Amino acid sequence: MSATEFEIIRRYFRRQQPQRDDVIAGIGDDAALLQVPAGSELVVCMDTLVAGIHFPLSTAAAAIGHKSLAVNLSDLAAMGATPAWATLSLTLPDSDPVWLESFSRAFFRLADRYGIQLVGGDTTRGTLSVTVQAHGFVPRGRALRRQGAQPGDRIYVTGTLGDAGLALQLGDQADKVLRQRLDYPEPRIDIGLVLRDYASAAIDISDGLLADLGHLLEADGADASKGASLQIDELPRSAVFTKTIEQAGPARQDLFYELPLSAGDDYELCFTAPPHAYKSLEAALSNLPVACTAIGVIDQDPGVRCLKANGEVYHPATHGYQHFGGAGG
Ligand code: ADP
Ligand code: MG
Repeated sequence: MSATEFEIIRRYFRRQQPQRDDVIAGIGDDAALLQVPAGSELVVCMDTLVAGIHFPLSTAAAAIGHKSLAVNLSDLAAMGATPAWATLSLTLPDSDPVWLESFSRAFFRLADRYGIQLVGGDTTRGTLSVTVQAHGFVPRGRALRRQGAQPGDRIYVTGTLGDAGLALQLGDQADKVLRQRLDYPEPRIDIGLVLRDYASAAIDISDGLLADLGHLLEADGADASKGASLQIDELPRSAVFTKTIEQAGPARQDLFYELPLSAGDDYELCFTAPPHAYKSLEAALSNLPVACTAIGVIDQDPGVRCLKANGEVYHPATHGYQHFGGAGG
């Protein structure tokens, strides 16, 4: 490790943060030494953000700091996990103190809100790339999984869909609120914890509703024949989303359906619940600040059917969301 790397770690990443009792050794030893609570399973996920592929090169350092952790917390939320620790692998073209200060401040602001301790990482030189690994706990056997949805289950999503995709489409022209949704996604941790008691299956929406719902439908294997019917006029859209599309002119009206169905980067949860759980689930969720919306049902026909309020079938134009720059992932 070079002197500058040592200095970066000391100045920006080893600073005061919550000292969790379950961290026996954090940053500074050869590896982190961590205590998983008795009766819990460890939930681990990792996501990499590469400059120019997963975010535009113009993205603010604070947004990269926030989002690199948030996308991982979104995966923990989709598993119903309580977050605990994170590790951070940072590849930097240079050591720009202004960039590092904003990046680390935003990273720790989000980490602090969930009581997460940064327990280690790696620092290298190269094209800007940020990898975060997040760790959380679930009581043994209680994790939410992609598998488990059954015909008859209702399909729900959290928050609103399509805002981040619209911000990407509009670039510099995007409204501040839309840009915020792209740069500072809010992980749905609290909802994931509630869902442990009610949901039959869950996934987070990073690649677009249709793609990720597809993964949920495939999770039980090809033999488990099931599909979904979506009421696409019911998809939750923000006020600014609807207004922006309305003002965009007739040629862009397809985005009203296309973005909520197929744009990624929303980091909302999509989950299913069986009929006997609807009432108690919806009551439990009504205490939380973020709305959940029923958008359709699981049925026995493979594939996903998109239905308008007038009963017309809608055929989505795009399949498979490409993150910024088109490299996917
Ligand atoms: P080693 O050479 O033994 O792999 P490193 O020099 O990579 O050690 O790291 C020294 C310590 O600093 C380790 O505890 C490591 O986990 C931590 N560390 C390195 N980079 C980061 C980072 N970007 N964020 C947090 N901790 C880091
Ligand atoms: Mg190392």
